[in-house]
Amino acid sequence: MSDLRGLPAIGTLLEHAAIKPLRASLDVGQLAYVLREEVAAERARRLAGEAPLDVDALAAKAVARVHELLRPRLRRVVNATGVVINTNLGRSPLAPEALERLLDVAGGYSNLEMDLTSGQRGSRYVHVEELLIRLTGAEAAVVVNNCAAAILLITDTFARGREVVVSRGQLVEIGGSFRLPEVLEASGARLVEVGTTNKTYLSDYERAIRPETGVLMLSHTSNFRIVGFTHEVDRRELAALGRQTGVVTAEDLGSGLLVDLSQWQVPTEPTVQDSVAAGLDLVAVSGDKLMGGPQCGIVVGRRDLVERLKANPMLRALRPDKLALAALEGTLRLYLDPASVAERVPIMGMLARDVDDLKLAATLLAGHLQHLDAEVVPGFSAVGGGTLPGVELPTWLVALRVPEIGLDELARRLRTCEPAVVARIANDRLLLDPRTMLADDPALVVEALRKALA
Ligand SMILES: *Cc1c(COP(=O)(O)O)cnc(C)c1O
Repeated sequence: MSDLRGLPAIGTLLEHAAIKPLRASLDVGQLAYVLREEVAAERARRLAGEAPLDVDALAAKAVARVHELLRPRLRRVVNATGVVINTNLGRSPLAPEALERLLDVAGGYSNLEMDLTSGQRGSRYVHVEELLIRLTGAEAAVVVNNCAAAILLITDTFARGREVVVSRGQLVEIGGSFRLPEVLEASGARLVEVGTTNKTYLSDYERAIRPETGVLMLSHTSNFRIVGFTHEVDRRELAALGRQTGVVTAEDLGSGLLVDLSQWQVPTEPTVQDSVAAGLDLVAVSGDKLMGGPQCGIVVGRRDLVERLKANPMLRALRPDKLALAALEGTLRLYLDPASVAERVPIMGMLARDVDDLKLAATLLAGHLQHLDAEVVPGFSAVGGGTLPGVELPTWLVALRVPEIGLDELARRLRTCEPAVVARIANDRLLLDPRTMLADDPALVVEALRKALA
């Protein structure tokens, strides 16, 4: 028979010497909630025939639970993976200038929707629209919560109950459950697939056009490549077809690149400016991929069409908040001086980083880890985040073999350190890539390893 008689009363636990001091940081009701959970867990343990815990052990468990509760769940992580844009790790670190805007605006009131000159109601979109126009060459811009929302807004506005024409080679799925065909259909548009997986021609789009056609859509196949016997429709050709037929053309470009990466010997991809210059009516991108800003979706394009997006009541449900707009403004302003973006936009700096500089950083880090037989080895970083698929950026890695504990266990301990460190495991070694570490991160990695192996 299990012994349920010895279960302590909540009132007794509240007076326990280990528990009482917690009242300083937690309301007594919340504290009792935790205690009831622990007592219930203890009851279940005893019913399962396990040896009973005494009152002190129960109190200790409750204290640990309260500390966990008071500690931020969403917290800083050192990215030692070498994957520059990692959706699981929150995509882009923001530039100091963006953080400054964020702090300035978020801690107080702001002119989010007030025109300070007239004192009248203003638009939240004006704060970034001029910058977007100058940087991309488009006539107008609107910002929503993410690129998926941008696609939803475009198709809802121009193709609800009508048709969106997409190439079969571009029906992409991006990580985190963004599937272009599903987003299109969620907006009440009918998807019309044209071409084949490997080849789609302008004539395929042309033949699909009928009175029900709302949008001719291009999508950037940002996380995979179709190679070999292939053909994609050129942006300019599609833009021209849209103009001839009066059908809206749009591109789901995704990564939001604003500068040519080849200046740093990194394989590049089309910039937002390229798509605008090709004459497409609307171009949708994410703010937190290669743009290096906060999570948001940006649509740039023809003024009359952007005005229709702004007039769609659905925008009310997709609109960005002041935090995203403040950080976006701070980020975009840095691109007014493209020559300095590598120094100022963290994502750009990571991509631009010189391989000799990475070797030096890896060597310095390994120098602090000599007791672990750290080796400096050549390897590759990745851009990630569904951008530049297959592109490998040469780097130098710190490689650790720790025979005393398994690598998976070591990686787990590093992830649960404060701050957490996320590393990569390959070829029986734990790999640390300096490319994705911020200035203070190497010291944090050394400290985390010390704790993990203590
Ligand atoms: C990343 C990406 C998306 C989704 O963007 P979110 O901002 O995460 O919604 C859509 N399309 C393409 C081509 C992408 O690369």
